[in-house]
Amino acid sequence: MKCFLCPVKCGTDRELRAGACGVRGITVAKAYLHPFEEPFLSPHGKSGTVFFSGCSLRCVFCQNFEVSRAAKGKEVSPRELGTIFRDLEDMGAENIDLVTADHFIPQLAEAFSYFRPHVPVIFNSGGYVTEEALSLIDPFIDVYLPDFKFFSPLLAEKFTGRKDYPAVAEAAIRFMAKKPSVFENGQLKGGLAVRHLVLPAHTEDSKRVLDVLSKTIPRSAPLSLMRQYTPMGDIGAFPELARRVTDREYEKVVNYALSLGFSDIYTQDAASAEPSFIPNWDE
Ligand code: SF4
Repeated sequence: MKCFLCPVKCGTDRELRAGACGVRGITVAKAYLHPFEEPFLSPHGKSGTVFFSGCSLRCVFCQNFEVSRAAKGKEVSPRELGTIFRDLEDMGAENIDLVTADHFIPQLAEAFSYFRPHVPVIFNSGGYVTEEALSLIDPFIDVYLPDFKFFSPLLAEKFTGRKDYPAVAEAAIRFMAKKPSVFENGQLKGGLAVRHLVLPAHTEDSKRVLDVLSKTIPRSAPLSLMRQYTPMGDIGAFPELARRVTDREYEKVVNYALSLGFSDIYTQDAASAEPSFIPNWDE
């Protein structure tokens, strides 16, 4: 059957071949207890993270490009995916963290019919997802964790090939913001948290992203301003991306978020911009 799930709407028959997202069936790159998610997601550092392969965005600087650009990993059925959720929970996972699963939404819904986790389920997304697709998965999700990467459509087109990214992500975040917030014992168990990766030489765009967020989500919602950008991927044509973010750039973005009244901001120190924090996909 032709697939029109994500905003690309490429119409590929994924029974026959991979779509523009790079995959056919559910492809799991890695599933393990991930220690490096924000503390409000996993206070004890045991995030039951499932990294999915493929992506319908094509960020030139993707920190996970080994798995986002190809069907690397293992193809599983919805029933097997349900078993992965159960195994992670049995291992002590504090959540089930679905990383870039936007292009598998109908299959995810089926997986939850085989195993419904007892810990919060996190939909960890690049933000390039339609409201129609979110409606399908919403009953199974406790916490939305979208990125909001760019304000400028031109910048989005330059770095991802998707000029509609800002409009799609803003609409998706408006949808996600309807999820009631539940914070218990230092853990976000329901609601919305937004991530923004600060890029070198683009702090003005980051500020415009924050302007939009200030009108879209509650100022009390967790806001994660990521400093982990590490030069990698297809950045040869973009010399400004060949370095890490400076202290001055990062502080400018954090201070702007504070000036807008965001009260629950998560920051990273400069040491987070290290390839060693990127999962080893071959383990
Ligand atoms: S999810 Fe993949 S196959 Fe479906 S429309 Fe998007 S890019 Fe195409």
